[in-house]
Amino acid sequence: MTKPTKYVYGFAEGGRDMAALLGGKGAGLAEMTRIGLPVPPGFTVTTDACKVYLATGEEPPELGVEAAQALAGLERAMGRTLGAPDDPLLVSVRSGARFSMPGMMDTILDIGLNDRSVNGLAKASGQERFAWDSYRRLIQMFGHTVMGVDGDLFEQAIAALPQSRLRSTGGAPMADDHDLDVGELMALTEEFKAVIRKETGEDFPQDPADQLARAVRAVFDSWNTERAHVYRHREHIPEDLGTAVNVQAMVFGNLGADSGTGVAFTRDPATGERGMYGDYLPDAQGEDVVAGVRDALPLRELRSLDPRAYVELGDHLRTLERHYRDLCDVEFTVERGKLWILQTRVGKRTAEAAFRIAHDLREEGTISADEALARVNGAELSRLMFPRFDVKTTDVPLAHGVPASPGAAVGAVVFDSTEAVRRAAAGEPVVLVRRETTPDDLPGMIAAQAVLTSRGGKTSHAAVVARGMGKVCVCGAEELAVDPLARQFTAASGAVVREGDVVSVDGTAGTVHLGALPLTASHVGRALETGTATDALTEAVLGALARADSGRRLQVRANADTPEDAVRARALGAQGIGLCRTEHMFLGERRELVEAMILARDDLARERALDALLPLQRADFTAILEAMDGLPVTIRLIDPPLHEFLPDRTELAVRLARTEHPDPHERELLAAVERMHEQNPMLGLRGVRLGLAVPGLMAMQVQAIAEAVVERLRVGGTPRAEIMIPLVGTVEELRLARSEAELVLGEVETETGLRLDCPIGTMIELPRAALTAGRIAEAADFFSFGTNDLTQTTWGLSRDDAEASFFPLYIDKGVFSVSPFETIDQEGVGRLVELGVEAGRAVNPRLETGVCGEHGGDPDSIHFFHRVGLDYVSCSPFRIPAARLEAGRASL
Ligand code: PEP
Ligand code: MG
Repeated sequence: MTKPTKYVYGFAEGGRDMAALLGGKGAGLAEMTRIGLPVPPGFTVTTDACKVYLATGEEPPELGVEAAQALAGLERAMGRTLGAPDDPLLVSVRSGARFSMPGMMDTILDIGLNDRSVNGLAKASGQERFAWDSYRRLIQMFGHTVMGVDGDLFEQAIAALPQSRLRSTGGAPMADDHDLDVGELMALTEEFKAVIRKETGEDFPQDPADQLARAVRAVFDSWNTERAHVYRHREHIPEDLGTAVNVQAMVFGNLGADSGTGVAFTRDPATGERGMYGDYLPDAQGEDVVAGVRDALPLRELRSLDPRAYVELGDHLRTLERHYRDLCDVEFTVERGKLWILQTRVGKRTAEAAFRIAHDLREEGTISADEALARVNGAELSRLMFPRFDVKTTDVPLAHGVPASPGAAVGAVVFDSTEAVRRAAAGEPVVLVRRETTPDDLPGMIAAQAVLTSRGGKTSHAAVVARGMGKVCVCGAEELAVDPLARQFTAASGAVVREGDVVSVDGTAGTVHLGALPLTASHVGRALETGTATDALTEAVLGALARADSGRRLQVRANADTPEDAVRARALGAQGIGLCRTEHMFLGERRELVEAMILARDDLARERALDALLPLQRADFTAILEAMDGLPVTIRLIDPPLHEFLPDRTELAVRLARTEHPDPHERELLAAVERMHEQNPMLGLRGVRLGLAVPGLMAMQVQAIAEAVVERLRVGGTPRAEIMIPLVGTVEELRLARSEAELVLGEVETETGLRLDCPIGTMIELPRAALTAGRIAEAADFFSFGTNDLTQTTWGLSRDDAEASFFPLYIDKGVFSVSPFETIDQEGVGRLVELGVEAGRAVNPRLETGVCGEHGGDPDSIHFFHRVGLDYVSCSPFRIPAARLEAGRASL
C-alpha cells in the first residue's frame, strides 16, 4: 500500500464516491453534508488507518495529530469543548465499513462525559435525569465494548434494583429506563464504575481525549470479532477492507416528549411500495430503535407528534432518493423539535422490493431500463419463486407480527442460537424464536429457516439481518410471551409451544401457525410460467426479464430428461435442452432390462436386452422432442459406470449370506457386481469408454434418437436432436464414437429416405479434453462443458465426497470463498473452459459452445461464461428465469 496522504477527513471534505476510504457511513455523511442536509458535524478516520492498525497493532503515528486537529475543528464549529465541565461537547464513535454490516461492529455514544461534565450537561440541558442516564449508558457501553467487561454484569446491576422499579416484559424482569430517578441513576453509575474496577482492575477513564482514542481503537478491533467474521463470510465481504470510524457531535433524542429518534426509508423496504416508511421512538436514543428495545411507533405518527419535523423529513428523504436515484434509508433524531439526519445509505431491501423499486424508479424516469435491470439479480428472483403457504380462512394463527422478510418456512422451534446450529447441522429445519435478536444470534439466524421475535419493528436487528439474508422473518409478535429459560412460548390463546414443536412462519403475511402448513407454488413462479402479470410485483419481474432477454447474448437452455421437465423448462423460457441425461431413463422399472444387458453372457442375450430398451428410449426421446419442437435438444449418451445400475454390493452380499437357499440369479448378480466394482468409478469405465466397451449400447441409443426424429418428422414436427458423447479425453475416442453413431444415422436415413440432421458433439469435462480441444474440435459439431466433472478432475476433488467433508474447513480458512462446485473457479477450471473455447473455435469457427454443469445456473458463473464467449448455459428448469436475468445483466 502506498502511504496515504492523510488518515482523517472532515465530513465536508468527503463524498459518496469515497466509500472505500471513508466507509459507507462516512461517505454518506459527507455526501449529505455536501448537499446541505442537517447533519451533526464530525470527521471520519479512514479505513487506511484501520488497516495499519490491524496489520501492526498500532495506529499510524500521524493519526493522533490529525484526529486532534479534526476534533479542534469540530469543537470550534460547535462552540463547545469535548468533555468540558460546563456544557460539554459529546461525540458518538461509530464503525462504518465499506459494505454495510448492520449491528456487527461497535458503536459508543456520549463520549466526553465524566464525573464533572455530567453536571455540566445537566445544567446546560436543564435535565439532570437525562445527564445521569447518558453517563450511565456511556459507562455501560464503554465498559462492555472498550474494556471488555461482560455485558450481563451491568444488566445484573440493573436487575438488582428494587423490584418496584422493574416491569415484566413477557418473561424476565427488565428495567424500564424511564422509571429510574436521578438518585437511582447516580447510584447505578457508581455501581457500574465499581463493576469495571472489579473486572479490569482499572477505573473508567475520566479523560475525554483518552475515552475518544480508546473508543476509536475498540471500533478498529471490532472488525475482528467472531460475529463480524461470520457475517463477512456469509456476505462474501473481503476480510482485508477494515472499517472507518466516524466521530460525530452527539444530538439527543431523549430530551423529552419533543425529542425522539427513528429510522426512515424512502419506500417500504419489504414490499417496495411507494411512500416514506419507518419507525419512530419518542424520547429515546438512536440505538434503541435498531435494538428493538422498546416498541417503536409507525413513522406516520410523527405527523401528529411533530408536523414540522415530519414534513422536513419527507423533504430530505425525497432529496436523498433523487440524489442517490435509489431507495435510501436514514437514521434521524429530533432534538427538541430540531431534525438531524445521522446517517444514510442506499437501503437494503427484500427481493420483492428490489424488483418493484427498480420497476417504479424506471417508470418514474429516475433510472434507465438497463439500470433497473442492474438493480435486481438472479438470486432475488429465485427467492421470489419459492412456495408460499396455502392458508385457509379457517386457519387461526398463533400470533400476528410484523411481516419483516417474506417467504414461508416450517421448522422446529428453538430458543437459542446454539440449539439452532446444532439441530440444523443434524438436518432438522428450525425456527429461531427470541424476544429480540442481537448480533450474537447470527449463527443461529444463518442456521434457521425463519426467525420469529416478540419485540421490535421492521428496522429491528432481526428484521434487518434476516432481510439481508433473504430469510423468512416475523418480528414484534407481541402476543407471544417468549420464555427462553423454560424453552417455550405462550400464545395469547394460552397455547404453549415447546422447543421442538413445529411451527409455520409466514414472513409475507406476518403470521405464525402451529404445525406444518401446506405450501403452495409462488404466484411469481406461476406468472413466469404463464408469462402473465397478475400484480405489481409480477409486472416488475416480467418487465426485468423482458429487458434481460432483449439484451442478452447467452442463450439459456435446460437440463431436463423428462417430457414434463421439458414442458416446464420451455414455459420458463428455455431455448432448448442443453443436457438430457439418458441414464435417468434407465431407472425404476427399466432397471431390470439394464441389468439383463449388463449381465448378458453372449451377444444374443445382450441384443435381446437392448432390443427391449430401444422402444422405451425412442418413446422418451419422441416426447421430449415434441415438448421442445423447433428447439435444440442435446441428448447425451449413457455416462455413469455400470455398477450404478446394479444393486449395492454390500447389501447384496449380506442378503445372500443370510439366506439358506440363495437365489442363483442373485448369486450371479453378486459375481457381476464384484467383477464390475471399481475403487474410483468416477475415473473408471464410464462415459465414452462405456459406449465403446459395451457392444451395441451406443448404437441402440443413437437408433432410438434417430427413430424419434423420424417419428416427429412424419407428424410434421421440427425435431432438432443433437447427439452428445460424454467424458471424451482424446479425439480418437470421439472419432470412434462418431463413426459408430453416423453409421446408425445413415442406416435410418437410408431406410426412411429422410434427412435427419443430427449434429454430433462432445462434452469437455476432462482437463485433457480442454487442453487438446483443438484436436477434438476436428471431430465435433459442438462442445458442452461439463463443469461438474471438469471441476472434479481439475481439482482432484470428489464431487460426491468433498463438499460434506472438508469444504466447511476450507471455507473457514479462506482456501475457498465458495465451493468450486457451486461457482466456477475462474482461475483454474474457468481457464480450461476459456482455452477450450478458443482452441475449438480456431479449428472450427462454427463450433457451438455451451455449459451444462451446475455452474450453468449460478449467477457469478454465468457472467464468466458470458465473458469467455460461450453460446449458451444450460441449467435445471427452476433456475432458468434467474439464468435469463443474469445473462441479460452480464450483457449490460
Ligand atoms: C458435468 O459433469 O458437468 C455434467 C453436466 O455431467 P454429469 O453431472 O451428469 O456428470
Ligand atoms: Mg459429467
